[in-house]
This record gives sequence, structure tokens and C-alpha cells, in this order.
Amino acid sequence: MTEQTRPDADARPSYKDTLNLLETGFGMRANAIQREPELQALWRERGIDLEMGLSNPGPVFTLHDGPPYANGALHMGHALNKVLKDIINKHRLMQGRQVRFVPGWDCHGLPIELKVLQAMDQEQRRALTPLKLRKKAAAYARKQMEGQMAGFKRWGIWADWDHPYLTLQKEYEAAQIEVFGTMALKGHIYRGLKPVHWSPSSRTALAEAELEYPDGHTSPSVYVAFPAVEAPQQLRAALQDQGVDLPADGDSLQSTLQVAIWTTTPWTLPANLAVSVNDRLDYCLADDGRGRLLIVAADLRDTLSEKLGLPLAAKAVVKGALLAGLAYRHPLLDRHCPVVIGGDYITTESGTGLVHTAPGHGVDDFNTGRKHDLPVLCPVDEAGTLTEEAGPFAGLNVLKDANPAIIEALEAAGALLLQESYGHRYPYDWRTKKPTIFRATEQWFASVEGFRNEALAAIDAVEWLPASGRNRIEAMVAERGDWCISRQRTWGVPIPVFYHRSSGEVLLNADSIAHIQALIAEHGADVWWEKDESELLPPSHQGEAAQWRKGTDTMDVWFDSGSSWAAVASQRDGLSYPADLYLEGSDQHRGWFQSSLLTSVAVNGQAPYRTVLTHGFALDEKGRKMSKSLGNVVDPMVIIEGGKNQKQEPPYGADVLRLWVSSVDYSADVPIGAGILRQLADVYRKVRNTARYLLGNLHDFDPGRDAIPVEALPLLDRWMLQRTAVVLDEISDAFERYEFFRFFQLLQNYCVADLSNFYLDIAKDRLYVSAPNDRRRRSCQTVMALIIERLAGAIAPVLCHMAEDIWQNLPYAVAEDSVFRRGWPVVPDTWRNESLNAPMQQLRDLRGAVNRVLEECRGRQELGASLEAAVRVDARSASLQSALTWLADHGDPEVDGLRDWLLVSQLQLGGEPWAELLASDDANPLAVIEVARARGEKCERCWHYESDIGQHADHPSLCGRCVAVLKRR
Ligand SMILES: [Zn+2]
Repeated sequence: MTEQTRPDADARPSYKDTLNLLETGFGMRANAIQREPELQALWRERGIDLEMGLSNPGPVFTLHDGPPYANGALHMGHALNKVLKDIINKHRLMQGRQVRFVPGWDCHGLPIELKVLQAMDQEQRRALTPLKLRKKAAAYARKQMEGQMAGFKRWGIWADWDHPYLTLQKEYEAAQIEVFGTMALKGHIYRGLKPVHWSPSSRTALAEAELEYPDGHTSPSVYVAFPAVEAPQQLRAALQDQGVDLPADGDSLQSTLQVAIWTTTPWTLPANLAVSVNDRLDYCLADDGRGRLLIVAADLRDTLSEKLGLPLAAKAVVKGALLAGLAYRHPLLDRHCPVVIGGDYITTESGTGLVHTAPGHGVDDFNTGRKHDLPVLCPVDEAGTLTEEAGPFAGLNVLKDANPAIIEALEAAGALLLQESYGHRYPYDWRTKKPTIFRATEQWFASVEGFRNEALAAIDAVEWLPASGRNRIEAMVAERGDWCISRQRTWGVPIPVFYHRSSGEVLLNADSIAHIQALIAEHGADVWWEKDESELLPPSHQGEAAQWRKGTDTMDVWFDSGSSWAAVASQRDGLSYPADLYLEGSDQHRGWFQSSLLTSVAVNGQAPYRTVLTHGFALDEKGRKMSKSLGNVVDPMVIIEGGKNQKQEPPYGADVLRLWVSSVDYSADVPIGAGILRQLADVYRKVRNTARYLLGNLHDFDPGRDAIPVEALPLLDRWMLQRTAVVLDEISDAFERYEFFRFFQLLQNYCVADLSNFYLDIAKDRLYVSAPNDRRRRSCQTVMALIIERLAGAIAPVLCHMAEDIWQNLPYAVAEDSVFRRGWPVVPDTWRNESLNAPMQQLRDLRGAVNRVLEECRGRQELGASLEAAVRVDARSASLQSALTWLADHGDPEVDGLRDWLLVSQLQLGGEPWAELLASDDANPLAVIEVARARGEKCERCWHYESDIGQHADHPSLCGRCVAVLKRR
């Protein structure tokens, strides 16, 4: 349904003036660039955005914000996340819940540190002290935060913008120190030498969450033979049984028996301290045709024979358990090493089934080494350079020249069986995009093992939406190793420990934690760098300050953000811990959801959230990741304000961005692009025009004076209220379940199918043609007023600006100065009348069938407006017949006329078939439908074809009904 300008009425202004036309200040166009900021200012002035949430009488609702990183421009991922949160908050707020949304920012960490460093030249960097770097980093983070905050505000997000939480705030840092301290005192924090993911390019340890696995990585893999120098008696005996006699002396043994291994990191060979086997696998001694026996897994013999180009004829087969106790000579360094039993991680999927073991460079290696008392040798420094312990290879870099040099040396030593490049998943530093290595270092760990079962129980008590989230995080927590929480960087919260300068003893106790926590609460974490040990040590140790050295490690930023439940949710007024809801991207199962869970469980034995809702990622319209190189990046600010070419990229406003968020099934990845935006803008316009039509027809309506009681309304109006009640129920249910795409579909269908194409289409005659105060018009206005107020409420969480704009344009007085103060729409029971559904459905179906026949005539250009038609309906189905009877018996004679509902000038029910037809439908099971040209002449005012035109001398071109209306005006 659209507004029609009536050319006839235009030609004769006198009759146009007698129609009741639309009148409203609510524009057809949103003019969002100007209007949305005005409405936002109105919310601020009237204390609607934050104060209302704080003063609501209902129970507290806490959606605890996951902090975005304070770096870079806002993108569609931010939009999806923050708008979803805002939709939920606004809905809860309208339900009367107490809502304080505290926005957060993650401010520490390497990317910001790097930004600061990149902005400086060589000279400046040399003069840079840790403290200067921290000041610059803090200023940078705050500036970035301010930019992002301005964007969030423009999207219509409501939050406690004056009191955000930043992980660099001193009260936040102090709370984080407390979390660390409590975990330490409970025995969950320890220091240990352990291989960790190490980034030589960043010179720091990395957490799992800081790794990425790009496609296309290849490593220079090598197959190497280690000469045996000793064979245990048991093995010798077992081999003898199979006819293989090993030489007794070591020198002969070396050339006879060799252990074959495979590695993708040749640079770790100088750190080799053992070869591990799986005790349950079969291993075979295979003759290589050159006089030596190679030990390989029996299952891999054929594959290896082909790969190495050696015959590898099997001479004997033994269980891995028997190989333990073999000793071999390191082919490059002067040392003898054992073959040991590893674990089930040793398989026959690739390699040789015997695993080169360097405890300083791999987690399995480390664990196996610990079982067999091997030292943790790590001859690689923090830049990835081999140290003196690597012998002749010292000074080479493991990611550059070490591999070729070591491969060359293997070849020279006659130990190289094969070299080939090998493509596999390999961890890279997500920031520098450079490969990482495993490197054993002294690090601080949170012992997940110490509270793993509690964490799993806590996961079980949480509601995960979608449910698959539970399995994801459960598997991750069940399998994860201890959490390495120390970083060798400057821009972060210090690990608050002291080391004894001579003994290396660590000082970390209740006293020291309390003292540092108090200092940080007062001065911020800079104090760790500003003051020396004499002030940082607790009073009990200040006398011996010279003996202690403060630590230089900072905490993993995931520990920062993972402490937000302690620093924010459980500390600030108006928030609850555990929070009602955490809502982030599905990658946070291994990020923030997990770090928050681990710290909360370790300290308090419970999850920090009751429900966790996840969303996917924003992709382009073809389902591809957005990237600058593909040129498919959609910028939320361009959606709102338009791009350089406003024809191609028009300014849609924040509401269209928000409508997009509501429209997608965010449980998976979601597409966005120019085509989708055009469709959304179309839906937006339909809703807006529906609202405008309702508002425009209410300009002379005052509910207190003109409204008709619901019980006294005609059937059509009663049905419209019943239908609205059902739609609002379904919309409420969709919001409760966070299924906003259902809201989007319901809203669209309601505005288009129920209102525009049906109820309001029929209402035109009632609204325009009647005298202003006619009951048939006032009853329609009654329904329109009831609907517009609730429609505004139902769209308010999503289309907040449009909803408020509607409210501010209501043409009559209401008690509430904002749609949000009215609260979530509820409908009185008087609206509900399910007995209307069945007959109305029959009549709507009939209307659809008649419209199809009329359309057919229009298509042949035999008919213009439907009012030019006369229709005969002969009901066939019993249900239609009874609906017609119901309408005749109970319908309001002025409103519930089927002729008016069909928008035709004449209607005949039953009777003889007509002779002169324009078209007919004989096949419809509902009814026989015949269409003919309407008899009589067209009334110039109401466009109906009537036979009583010309009977009134003053109005020769009007029908009797219109003449009567004019008399009453
Ligand atoms: Zn008329």
C-alpha cells in the first residue's frame, strides 16, 4: 500500500480539500545523518540512555562487555558484536531490568608497544626507557579508545560512556594483581623451565591464542640415521632368535646398526638428547643394501623404502619396548644418547616411527625427557640464535641460516638419508606474521591441572548458546596444558615478584602481593618501573632491598582481560557476578571466555558468567573474508554516513546497520555487502512508510476523546488487534531467545502482509472519504493509535532511532517522553479473540483469489483501479460459506462489508452467473469468481462507481454517500 496522490482531486481542489489526507512531521525519508544525532542528544538530555537503566525497578541484568583491543578503526565485527549487545540491553531495559552496560577496552600488549616503537626513529628508540614507552603506549591506547567510543556512540549504543573500564586503569590493574596473588597463594602459579611457543621476531613467549596457522608453510624436513654404539642384551637375544647377530664392539656396531629419525626442524638437532619409540609398536631392522641395518617402524618400511630409494629388506622385527637401552652417537656433536620409551604420540602416520627428542624444543619431548631424567637443553637465545651449547653451529639463526648449515653437516657426516620440503600446519606469530619456535625458558605458569576438574564442572553449569559452544570449550579446557602467563615485554601489568640476586629464590607471598597491590591501586602499574626495590618490597624485606631484584616480565594480555570479572563485574555498582551474559565471537572459546573462566574458577571456584552467547564473523556477500586486497571491506561508518560516491554508497544511517545485525543468523558467519544493504534499506523503508501512514492518519485523533472501546470495534478492527497480539507474542519470544532474525522476519511480514497489503489497504476509504468524526473512521484510528505505540516499542531495541522518531511524532499527548519509558509493549487481554482467526483467514484467502483475477484483467489493460470492477462470488467451500454468514451476521454494516474489503464497487454473493465478464476463476475450490465492469458512474470524490451520481444539483459528480459526508462536515 502506498499513499496515492489523486489526480482527479488535484484537478478540483474543492473535493480534495474535503478528503482527510495524511498530515505528519514524520518524514518519508529518515534523513539519518541529521536526525539520528538529534535523537541521541534527546536521549542524553532526558537521561534516557543510561540513567533510565540505572533507575529501573527490576532485577539487575549484567551483560559484561568483552573488551575490544584499543587499536585501529572499527569494522563490521565490532558492529555485529556491539549492536547485538545493545539490542539485548535495550530489550532488557524496556522490560524494567536494571541495566548498566560498562564498555571495556583491552589496552596493554605488543601491538600497541609496536605502534609506539614504529613511530620513533633509531635515535629516539635508543633513548627510550621502559617508563617512557609505557607513557606513550598509554596515551596511544587512550586515543584509540576515544576514537572507537565515538563510533560506538554514533551506532546508537547505550553504555556508561563516562566510566568505561580500561585494562590500564589503576583500579583494574590492582584487581588483576589480586587475582594473580590469590591464584599464587592457592598454589596455582609456578615458575618453570618449559618449552613454550616463542616468537623470535617479537622476542617473547606467546599463548595459543596469539598463534595463527597460515596456509602454505613448508619446512626443510630431513631423514637422519644415528649410529648405534650400544645394544642391550635383551635386544641382542631377541635378534639372535631371528637370525641377526649384532657385532659386540661399539665401532663395528656403529656402521652396522643405525636408528632412523625424521624431523621438520633440523635446527633442533643440536639439542637432541634422545630418540623416543612407542613401546607397543613393531619396529623392524631393515637391510639398506649398503651393509647397514636401519631401525624403522615396521608399518612404515615400504613407504620409506620407496621414499629413501633403499631396498630396506626386513631382517628382524621387535617391539619398541625392546629398543629401550640402545645408545647412539650424535652425528654432529660429541655425545652419546639413549633410545627411550615415549608415549602414544609416537605413531606411524609419518616419519620413521622413531622420534628425535629435544626436551628444550617440544612439549612431548619435554614430558618424555622428564620421565627419563633428561636435561632441558635449549641452545637457542631469545632472538632465535644458536648459542655456544650448539657447538659449531653457534651464531646461526634457527629461522634463517641454521637449517642449511646443519643439513650440510649431516650430509658431510654421512648421516643424511633424505632431505625434502614438507608442507604442514605451523604456528606463526599472529602479530609479526613470522614463524614461531618451541623454546624452553623460565616462565610463569598458571597450573590448569590444579583446577581443571573444577573448571569442567563450572563449564557444565553454564548455558552455552549455541549448545555446540559447550563441547568446544570443554574439549579445549580438558586438553589444554598449563597456561604460560609471562611475557618479556614492557607494556603490561608486571608479574609482581622479586628474585634473590644470589640464590635466585623467588619472593611471592601474601605480604608482597598486598604491598604491590596497594601501590598499584594508588599509582598505577607504572610504579613498578618508577620505584626501586627498596619501595616495592614489602616492609618486612625493605631492609635487605639490595639483595632482591624485581622481575621484568609482564602478564599475558589474556590474563588482563580474563580478570575483568574481578575488576569490573564484581566491583562496580549495579553489576552482578557471575554476569548474566557474555557475548563475543566464537573464537573466544579459546580466548576471553576461557581466560575469564580459568581465573574465576581458580579464585572463586565458579564461572564468571551464567550464559555465554557466541556469534560468527562478518564476511562479504560471497562468503569471503574481508580484506583490503580483495577490496570487499565494508566499513560501518560508510554504511551510516555514505561513501565518497553517495550514489553507490548512500548514507543509510545507524538503524540500517542495526537492522542488518537483527536480520542475520549470527550463530554462523554472516554476509554483508552492497546488495544486502539495498535490500535492508528497502525493508527499512517499508517499516518507516507503514509507521508514517499510521501517524499521518492520526493527526486529528485524540484517544481520550475519540477512541472507540475495543469491545465495540468492528470485526476487521478486532481481528487486526488479535493479529497484532499474536505477532507481538512471537516477537517477544524471539527477543527472549536472542533470535533476532525472527524479529526481522515477523516485523517485515506484519508491516507488509498484515498492515500495508490488507488492513491499511482496506482502510483507505474509511480514512480518506468519511467525515472526520465518523465512527467508521474513528474506529480505524483507534486501532492505528494502539498499533503505532506498540510497533514503536517492538522495534525500539533494533531500530532505536526510528522508534523514538515515531514517538516524538505521535500527534496526541502520551504520558511517557520516550518510547523507552513506555517499556516493552504488552497487549491487554481484550485484544485477544482467537475465534476471529478462522473466518478471517477464509476471507483473506478469498480476497487474494479475487485480486488475482483482477490482476489478470489489469494485465490485459481491461481494468484500471479495482473500483472499476464488479465481482460475483459463489462460495464453494463450506468454510468460506460459513465465514460469509459470520460476516453478514456479526459484521459492522459500515466497516465489515466484503465489497469494501475487496476494494470493488459492486459485489454479488451467489445468484446467477453473469453474462458479460472481463474474467473469471472457475477452478478455485474456495469459490467461483467472476469479474465484470462496474455499473454506474465514477464518483469524483471517492472513485466508487455508483448509480446515484448526478442526483444532487450542487455536486453533480458525486455519489449520494459523498454528498451526505459533505453535509456533515
Ligand atoms: Zn463518492
